[in-house]
This record gives sequence, C-alpha cells and structure tokens, in this order.
Amino acid sequence: ADWVQLNHVNKVYSNGTVALQDVSLHIKENEFISFVGPSGCGKSTVFKLIAGLTEATDGDIRIMGMSPAHARKQSEMAFVFQDHTLLPWCSVEDNVMLPLSLRGMPKKQRLEEAARVLELVGLKDYKKALPRMLSGGMKMRVSIARALASRPKLLLMDEPFGALDEITRQTLQQELLDIWQREKGMTVLFVTHNVFEAVFLSTRVMVMTPRPGKIAEEISIPFAFP
Ligand code: ADP
Ligand code: ADP
Repeated sequence: ADWVQLNHVNKVYSNGTVALQDVSLHIKENEFISFVGPSGCGKSTVFKLIAGLTEATDGDIRIMGMSPAHARKQSEMAFVFQDHTLLPWCSVEDNVMLPLSLRGMPKKQRLEEAARVLELVGLKDYKKALPRMLSGGMKMRVSIARALASRPKLLLMDEPFGALDEITRQTLQQELLDIWQREKGMTVLFVTHNVFEAVFLSTRVMVMTPRPGKIAEEISIPFAFP
C-alpha cells in the first residue's frame, strides 16, 4: 500500500494563486524522495498539504490511509526545517525529549529514546549542552534527532541543509543516508533546490516547475540505496 498518496490535487490559495495543478504522487515505505525545482514551483505547498497545514482545493490526499490531520495526530510524521527551532534555554537532551513529553511518554522511556537518537546522530556526549554552544551542523543533528525520537514513518525535511557550509552539508548528507538505512522502513521526503543533493540522496527525484506548480518529471535513481 502507498504511505503517501496524492490523487489529482489542485491548490488555489485564497488570493487566487494556483500553487499546484493536477499533482499525483504515490510513495511507499523506505523511499527517499526529493522535490526539486525553482522558487515558487509549489514544493512547500506539497509539504503543507501532506502535513495537514493547508487543505487541497480539489483532489484526494491519504497518509497511511488516513487524512493528513489524523496522521499528524498519530505522530506518523516528523519535520525538520532549515531554521531548527530548538529551545535555547533547554539542553540538547531536553530539546530532543520535548515532543515525547507532550505525548505523555514516561521519563525513563524518554531518556532511553533520547540516548538512542543522540547516539544515532553522533551527539551522545553533548546531551547536557545548550544549543548556543553548538555549531550549525550540530544544531541540525539535534533537530534530526528530535524528529527521529517520535519514530515517524515519514520524515519531512524542507531545505534542511540550505544554511550550512559546503563541507558540513556533505557530511550531513552522508550521515542522513546512514540514519535512513538504520531506521528501517522510514520514508524521507526532502525539499531542496540543489539538484546534486537530490540525486545523491534520493531513490526518486520529483522535478517541479512553476506557474502553475506541477511535477514535470519523475526520475528513479537506479544505483541509489537501498
Ligand atoms: P489558505 O488558502 O490555505 O487558507 P491563506 O491564503 O489564508 O491560505 O494564507 C495562509 C498564510 O500564508 C497567510 O498567513 C498568508 O499571509 C500567508 N501567505 C500569503 N501569501 C503568501 C505567499 N505568496 N507565500 C507564502 N505565504 C503567503
Ligand atoms: P516553493 O516552496 O517551491 O517555493 P510554494 O509552495 O511556497 O513554492 O509556492 C507556490 C506558489 O504559491 C507561489 O506562487 C507562492 O507565491 C504561492 N503561495 C504560497 N503560499 C501561499 C499562500 N499562503 N497564499 C497565497 N499564495 C501562496
């Protein structure tokens, strides 16, 4: 079964902008899908629709067989953005545990889960550090750890490495691939305007074009993992 399904989705914003026209998507378990295209082609709109943050004007969207809003409530999805929204006065560990606290997970279990994901991103020695003591790349690793802590089926990443220098970006790309292979089954949806990044990371690349936003081309990368 498809984990993410968009059938003939149109999105017209209330000011009349046609952001997406006839977008269909079928995404399965364990895929790594990138969305590439110029500014305004509708990449963020696709993400907002999948996240349940805005409604489609026409068409049908199913996430794990549920409406996006329902899938969101069930914590099937987690998000990573470029401007990692870490709480500055909370330790790395507390930042990672926060979504688990909100879901009422007992403290012992939260600490175990934080240890697991901080190990996964190579930050187990930094659990007591404050975000401002960390480099940009390390803050991004904390954001990724926080997203993984809720064991999402879908990891949505919107230009996560856009603000990092080239060396850090390449390191994190490789780390993300390793994490994706270890978190068996998880599907990653990744927005970037960097074609090289998309091809390096993905099993499939969705090439989008603007005015109106649509998927112009879909490219399977034959030599990609897994
Ligand atoms: P919807 O049609 O889904 O209800 P709205 O048109 O009400 O969405 O806009 C949602 C939010 O996005 C508003 O706060 C609005 O200010 C903001 N917004 C408006 N135009 C743009 C734009 N071109 N790009 C990004 N955000 C915008
Ligand atoms: P991308 O992420 O590829 O830059 P977006 O999905 O943000 O593209 O935007 C697609 C189109 O929809 C653009 O023309 C943008 O200005 C417009 N848009 C995005 N959000 C809103 C909004 N809330 N209200 C009105 N127009 C919007």
